[in-house]
Amino acid sequence: MKKYSAFAVAREALRDHLGWERAWQSPEPSSKYDVIIIGAGGHGLATAYYLGKNYGITNVAILEKGWLGGGNTGRNTTIIRSNYLQDPSAAIYEKARSLYENLSQDLNYNIMFSPRGVMMLAQTQHEIRGYERTAHANALQGVSTEFISPQKVKKLCPIINIEGPRYPVLGALWQPRGGTARHDAVAWGYARACSDMGMHIIQQCEVTGVNTMNGKAVGVETTKGTIACEKIGIVVAGHSGVLADMAGFRLPIESVALQALVSEPVKPCMDVVVMANTVHGYMSQSDKGEMVIGGGADGYNNYSQRGSFHHVEETVRALVETFPIISRLKMLRWWGGIVDMTGDRSPIISKTPVKNIFMNCGWGTGGFKAIPGSGWAMAELIAKGEPGPLAEDFRVTRFREGQFIDESVAAGVAH
Ligand SMILES: Cc1cc2nc3c(=O)[nH]c(=O)nc-3n(C[C@H](O)[C@H](O)[C@H](O)COP(=O)(O)OP(=O)(O)OC[C@H]3O[C@@H](n4cnc5c(N)ncnc54)[C@H](O)[C@@H]3O)c2cc1C
Repeated sequence: MKKYSAFAVAREALRDHLGWERAWQSPEPSSKYDVIIIGAGGHGLATAYYLGKNYGITNVAILEKGWLGGGNTGRNTTIIRSNYLQDPSAAIYEKARSLYENLSQDLNYNIMFSPRGVMMLAQTQHEIRGYERTAHANALQGVSTEFISPQKVKKLCPIINIEGPRYPVLGALWQPRGGTARHDAVAWGYARACSDMGMHIIQQCEVTGVNTMNGKAVGVETTKGTIACEKIGIVVAGHSGVLADMAGFRLPIESVALQALVSEPVKPCMDVVVMANTVHGYMSQSDKGEMVIGGGADGYNNYSQRGSFHHVEETVRALVETFPIISRLKMLRWWGGIVDMTGDRSPIISKTPVKNIFMNCGWGTGGFKAIPGSGWAMAELIAKGEPGPLAEDFRVTRFREGQFIDESVAAGVAH
């Protein structure tokens, strides 16, 4: 793999950029791999990367039915934060956030991590109590957050209206090292590094069946033929239930569409991420100048990657009260992704009833921020066959045991 650097850009500029090689290879599948990862989203690619980097396992195929990063990874609003309430969540999201800090250097790929700060507005007394509680919990967990006054909110984000008629801003939970990253670049950077380690990224290769023998998986059926393997990692977000069904077990998970939109580009007016959970909307400004806006999930199960009108109307109506400046902006693009929701709004990183199949799913509306930490924990689970400290609480059996990791306040609407 050629190293990307300022020198390389200058050299290529002098020879009409003819020397760049493909960022990743597109090989035909081999007949057998040590590990097959199903799903080339951020979590699948990060899992493969840390399998290679941390455990030296590189005879790996990542099978993707569409194009890599074309699922939720390339459809999200890119918010990164780790201000969750429960200890297992804070641990894995903070691990992910800290890996994001140096991911560009680690992958030699600019993922445009921008720790511009994330604030979650408190617009009811109930939210003040909830966020103050989270700030205390975060202090104990070593996650740097603070509860800030409405005046500080206004100082950090001058375009905000803190005296909204329905829901004035009463304060906010502020995480100064939260922020955003370029979502495609995260997938592309991991893909390039995986390919460089000799792993096979096979796009347009849908897994249509899981072959098992004596309670063990022996391979998968795909649109490119049968592929054998020793271990399988299923990392397919909104299609987790479908793949689990192929492997012969069920998951406590639902799939729903979540949508987002961006406005036409405007001059820089906002250099923090703001989430307003009570009124149900959040916003940041992309490097291109578009206002990136996200809302809630559909209230019914579906596999649609499109938006629905009533959500756009609700989200924009809510945000216009808090950000009157956006009332005349035109919407540029609008899309949806299929998110995988668990009952406690926490992920599943777990062994399954099939001995050598491992699941990573349930990131719901907020898994972009978790990609490096999730990949790290899932790689450990696959390599060792047992979860490490980051993953053990996220076992699927917690739902039967009543050991929920309730993040409905931190993750319900907020991404
Ligand atoms: C509109 C929206 C906004 C969001 N905003 C945020 C945010 O601001 N911050 C945040 O942290 N998170 C956010 N999220 C959530 C985040 O995007 C997801 O949690 C995360 O991207 C999930 O990554 P993944 O790798 O698990 O899934 P995906 O990126 O969906 O990857 C799964 C892949 O599996 C493939 N696949 C499925 N079935 C098969 C099969 N049978 N064979 C082969 N491949 C298959 C799919 O094609 C897909 O590419 C948002 C999501 C959406 C939809």
